[in-house]
Amino acid sequence: MATPTIRQIRAYTVRGGGGDYHDQSGAHWIDDHVSTPMAKYPNYRASRRSFGINVLGSLVVEVEASDGTVGFAVTTGGEPAAWIVENHLARFIEGAKVTDIELMWDQMYNATLYYGRKGLVINTISGVDLALWDLLGKVRQEPVFHLLGGAVRDELQFYATGARPDLAKEMGFIGGKMALHHGPAEGEEGLRKNLEILTDMRAKVGPDFWLMQDCWMSLDVNYATKFATRAWHEAGLKWIEEALSPDDYWGYSELRRNLPRGMLCTTGEHEATRWGFRLLLDMNCCDIIQPDVGWCGGVTELIKISALADAHGVLVVPHGSSVYSYHFVITRHNSPFAEFLMMHPVPDQVVPMFTPLLLEEPVPTKGRLKLPETPGFGVRLNPECKLHRPYTH
Ligand SMILES: [Mg+2]
Repeated sequence: MATPTIRQIRAYTVRGGGGDYHDQSGAHWIDDHVSTPMAKYPNYRASRRSFGINVLGSLVVEVEASDGTVGFAVTTGGEPAAWIVENHLARFIEGAKVTDIELMWDQMYNATLYYGRKGLVINTISGVDLALWDLLGKVRQEPVFHLLGGAVRDELQFYATGARPDLAKEMGFIGGKMALHHGPAEGEEGLRKNLEILTDMRAKVGPDFWLMQDCWMSLDVNYATKFATRAWHEAGLKWIEEALSPDDYWGYSELRRNLPRGMLCTTGEHEATRWGFRLLLDMNCCDIIQPDVGWCGGVTELIKISALADAHGVLVVPHGSSVYSYHFVITRHNSPFAEFLMMHPVPDQVVPMFTPLLLEEPVPTKGRLKLPETPGFGVRLNPECKLHRPYTH
């Protein structure tokens, strides 16, 4: 049987949740006075939407093969990403064999190197890459995790990210991670409030449940060291996540040396490609890397990042990204558990992470999930979400 080629690639945008999970409206824990690098400006402190965290919106990439099979993926990037796909990347995809993902990735990366490397361009390449894996799975009638070498365990187990680790514990998750609310600009009072929230939560969840703190790039080495040391002693904090700017590899290296023995330093959600992660690993910046498969270069790149981490004795626990990370995590020995982002506004129940954009998106029950063996990533686009194709080629 001849291998199908790719007939067309199309890029769409869509508003309201989905690929860009920050794109929420109304009251939502994800936007509730979260400590950010912009929180030093009082005008931008109360909400992440105030400084434009949701401006990009979702990107949906569709790739259609010569046999009529369609693969797709969603990530963050919106209209500028759609422009890059249609005007630049399409030439490396259309006409290529559906099997030649490594070749397409290398051409997309090298052709955009003069303006790409990280951020939006790599988000966009990630979206195309994930759509290509979905397409290959559908052409072969295999789930993506089969194509990646097969499952190394029967099911995934999850910790939950949200405002209520106590509820996450009742729902069967192995741990709970909260967003930090007060940054260095809020001084000693903010630090005291941060610690109070943690010690209150520790009292609710008991001594053994994992509690973690996500700092979303908002601290400096001194504040992070002081906070982590007290949080370790007063609330048994398991890890401090993304405490510093992703550009401050030297700061991470110092912070990790400063942490109490036994406490973990984690980061990498806003890092990209094997070269970015090489710096984090070579400079001993962290114990766990947290690449987002929709932002770091896609599955094709995550395979390489993960191998590099494994050789450094570092775990890979991808950031959110739903089915796109589940199909990867289930195939890796050095990814023993996964993150589940609680996208319910409170959050007191489990809802699909990319809701409402995907149909058949699996969610954990009692903190665990057996991946269905449906072809590709096993999800469909919700026809009720209105897609917009801003550019064509
Ligand atoms: Mg995070």
